[in-house]
Amino acid sequence: MQTLAIDGGEPVRQGRPWPAWPEWSDTTIKSVVDVVRSGRWTVSWPSTGRDALEREFAEQFAQYNGASYGVAVDHGSGALVVALEMLGIGAGDEVIVPVMTWVASASAVLRVAALPVLVDVDPSTGCLDPEAVRDAMSPDTRAIIAVHLASTVADLDALRAIADEHGVPLIEDCAQAHGARWRQQMVGTVGEVGAFSFQQSKVLAAGEGGAVITSDPVLYHRAQQLRADSRGYSFTSTGEVAAGAPEIVAKGDVIGTNFCMAELQAAILIDLLPNLDAQHERREVRARELREGLATLGSFCEIPVARQCDRRSIYEYGIRFTSGEFGDAPVDAVSRALSAELQRPVRASDIPLHRSPLFRPETARRLAGLWTQGARHRALGRAYPGAEGYRDSTLLIHHSALLGTSEDIHDVIDAVRKVQMHSKRLALRADEHVEMS
Ligand SMILES: *Cc1c(COP(=O)(O)O)cnc(C)c1O
Repeated sequence: MQTLAIDGGEPVRQGRPWPAWPEWSDTTIKSVVDVVRSGRWTVSWPSTGRDALEREFAEQFAQYNGASYGVAVDHGSGALVVALEMLGIGAGDEVIVPVMTWVASASAVLRVAALPVLVDVDPSTGCLDPEAVRDAMSPDTRAIIAVHLASTVADLDALRAIADEHGVPLIEDCAQAHGARWRQQMVGTVGEVGAFSFQQSKVLAAGEGGAVITSDPVLYHRAQQLRADSRGYSFTSTGEVAAGAPEIVAKGDVIGTNFCMAELQAAILIDLLPNLDAQHERREVRARELREGLATLGSFCEIPVARQCDRRSIYEYGIRFTSGEFGDAPVDAVSRALSAELQRPVRASDIPLHRSPLFRPETARRLAGLWTQGARHRALGRAYPGAEGYRDSTLLIHHSALLGTSEDIHDVIDAVRKVQMHSKRLALRADEHVEMS
């Protein structure tokens, strides 16, 4: 038997590099250079006689998603803050957040001084469990944030229904789901607001960046001001702007922050957006090979997708396994072993947020008053068996691994097979690890 790479053996993956991410071309470079030369690097600098690129991108992105309006922002985290403030959410309010997500989904709620109420997820998808949402609703609940995690879509039928029954808005955190569809409709448009990130790891990337989409004109006008220190567009989008005129001017309806996307980011996104759908298709081809290959090794499957979801967006491909597939080896030990074999990260999910050390008075002075005993209990005092189950049985591979060749997929399958054969040894190693720490 070949020695495991973590024990000094030869890794399965040798020599060949993995596909680079993001994918870019000469036109990407040209669009950035054009911005540099234009002298206008942000929407808040006087116009050069045409709409800002951040505005152009926001319109294109809204159109891609079938929404009436889009506003570009500087991060996905900022997009979530803007989404919450568009809806007037603030102090004293509760917002339902899945316990299994990137921390920004919950910290955005804290940034508007509301309380994130962490709710359990379906153990097979990692997305909000509608029954648990129902149980967690209270008279103070002012919104539900659904996160479409890894490579699937939350149960939007059930979540929309719960939101409507309670008369609260639904926010979709689509940072991991650009281009996914639910009943032929793009994610981000089932809720009142969809929030997106264009951070480098996401399937549409500009280094950093974000956007909100909505089809409500009132929310759109609030969003403009929330992301530009209370300024909104001074004229309707025509493409014929007087050179030297300001494109955004003070409106004074709502206090905003500077969350503006730079023109350099917008230029990259305008260049890359047209590639997104073809990349979805390329990943699906590799995902099928991976699913079929892993099925020959045992009870492996991918993260399920509801039948209402007619296109998924693979941000991270999730390998789900039943306990026993790697003997007694815990998921973190399997993840370390696989990462060493493949010379790239194959990770376990982030820990569920109720185990995060962040939700305490000591972590932010401005929030210290929020964390009464009662609030802490409301926020994270539930049971989270779904989240623990998901974490113990899911391994995540970044989507860029699915943008290469079939040989890449064979390497992943070979690595899983090799680590499986060594699972006794891995479980032992994990025990030593615990004893030493
Ligand atoms: C990445 C991510 C965010 C935050 O986006 P940033 O651009 O990094 O601020 C929010 N929610 C989820 C689910 C994410 O994956």
